[in-house]
Amino acid sequence: MNLILLGPPGAGKGTQSKLLETKFGLKQLSSGDMLRSAVSMETPVGKKAKSYMDQGALVPDQIVVDVVFEHLAGLSNPNGFILDGFPRTVEQAEALDGWLQKHSSRIDRVIVIAVPDNRLVQRIAARFTCANCGEGYNDVFKLPKTEGVCDVCGSSDFKRRADDRAETVAKRLEAYHAQTAPLIDYYKSQGKVATVDGEASIDDVSQEIDVLFSDKVIS
Ligand code: AMP
Repeated sequence: MNLILLGPPGAGKGTQSKLLETKFGLKQLSSGDMLRSAVSMETPVGKKAKSYMDQGALVPDQIVVDVVFEHLAGLSNPNGFILDGFPRTVEQAEALDGWLQKHSSRIDRVIVIAVPDNRLVQRIAARFTCANCGEGYNDVFKLPKTEGVCDVCGSSDFKRRADDRAETVAKRLEAYHAQTAPLIDYYKSQGKVATVDGEASIDDVSQEIDVLFSDKVIS
């Protein structure tokens, strides 16, 4: 099963991808993580991507497409993959369809995690991750069980994303509505879209997504 998780920044795509990895053995491919890693390693791609990311703008299609396809090509997971944060434009989606077709593969489902903008701004301001293992947390609804200690790896080093500042978040939301939301219609025309309510708790959203695995419910 190959999935795309689609939704605005802060909708919970990363959190739900990690749960799907654990439960169904799918492999998460996050374009944001790939680009952040390229930026921190100061690779040629990272150097090109950095200024766009700092401003909350989308990185040009060709740069992202090359990076994601390189990861897809190296994938050997028989259970399939979850694309988190990619595609983000219709051009990227068309390139993805073409690439998958050439490799005798396809996207099976596109799960849209819907959350209104006013909730996203609060959520993003509250999120942080373990600097060691990347486990995600939130000041409001998911604090570590022991204060200051990561539940997964025990590290006490946490970090917040530079592009989670309020001004940058507003730009990222604008980019989502202008460039990414049209993908919902693109995939609806392929009969692949199912929408879940991203305002529900992490567990409830996860259960809703699990049902989509056993069901043929596609809107
Ligand atoms: P994310 O971690 O998915 O929120 O992505 C962080 C930033 O990386 C975005 O604000 C963009 O600048 C860039 N980015 C990630 N994925 C893409 C993509 N598919 N297309 C263009 N830019 C992207």
